[in-house]
Amino acid sequence: MRPLVADIDLDALRHNYQLACRCAPKSRSVAVIKADAYGHGALACAKALEEHAPAFAVACIEEALALRAGGITIPIVLLEGIFRADELALVDVHGFWIAVHSQWQVDALLAAKPRQPIPVWLKVDSGMHRLGFAVEEAAGIWQQLSAVPSVASLHLMSHFASADTQDNGYFNQQMSRLQALARQLDAPLCLANSPATLAWPVAHGDWNRPGVMLYGSDPLEVANDITRQLQPVMTLRSEIIALRELEEGEPVGYSGRWSAPRRSRIAVVACGYGDGYDRHARDGTPVLVNGQRCAIAGKVSMDMLTVDVTEVPEAAIGSEVVLWGSASNGEVLPVDEVARYCDTISYTLLTGVLPRAPRRYHGRSA
Ligand SMILES: *Cc1c(COP(=O)(O)O)cnc(C)c1O
Repeated sequence: MRPLVADIDLDALRHNYQLACRCAPKSRSVAVIKADAYGHGALACAKALEEHAPAFAVACIEEALALRAGGITIPIVLLEGIFRADELALVDVHGFWIAVHSQWQVDALLAAKPRQPIPVWLKVDSGMHRLGFAVEEAAGIWQQLSAVPSVASLHLMSHFASADTQDNGYFNQQMSRLQALARQLDAPLCLANSPATLAWPVAHGDWNRPGVMLYGSDPLEVANDITRQLQPVMTLRSEIIALRELEEGEPVGYSGRWSAPRRSRIAVVACGYGDGYDRHARDGTPVLVNGQRCAIAGKVSMDMLTVDVTEVPEAAIGSEVVLWGSASNGEVLPVDEVARYCDTISYTLLTGVLPRAPRRYHGRSA
């Protein structure tokens, strides 16, 4: 059988979730498990966190229904709310909480007659300029929703455009708009994503919404003492399936992007862009062979990639190769580091791992 697997460490997931909670002891943290828990498997992650998290957040009702079908009974927030008015019937049946970001969603709530009132997170656009009501409109909508019997409780929700950088005028602008509004409405807040949970206590609210940090990725531009405690949850692991010696000057792979600067030993690894590994990975992108750092040499193919193992003489067919995550010898290759070599972010690498790389769960409730 092909040796590629995505090992998922559910104990690390719980550790990271608890770290998010410790960062913000006065907030409740909703665990964001949208996009199949950032590629880690939403149901397995939900089961691992169910006893710890007071609520989960997903992007849409399809994701929430899949969790309910899998037996998850705690509250689930739809971060983009409903996409069509008739979804409110299902929201009611399953007890989902919803974000409300547009007038048509308000109108749908005004017209709805749910069996039980629906908790609502009113989304305000404080500067992201994607979803939400303008700050000037928000008070009016808030009053409107406060008076509607179909609405249970109201929170003010907003999203930061740049909580990941340190010296940050734009974050402060968003924050001061929100503080003014919250004072005016006496509204409980839900603002913080992972970087704000980690680095901006001022943004901690009644609820926080950590996502990517739960999976062990550091969202901050500059790591700190807390982010260094994050543990990788996914290890993308494979093996060497072939080895060859190249003379100086001999090229490897499509279009010969890399050629040997000296006599070199090249390992072929069972993992490619057909598994979701990023084809933009440059020569030099790190991988761990037997727990030792090596570098990608040559373009990534659909089913394979090639690694310079000249410095690892014991590398053999069957040797462990970690594309990101934790090697058997304890060495860690952060997905964030791989992402930089691919000109992308950990989010795309993690959500991009395809079903061809089977998920294998470890830890309690695996
Ligand atoms: C995805 C998402 C989050 C989580 O963001 P991270 O950067 O992964 O922590 C929080 N809030 C909203 C609205 C989101 O869509």
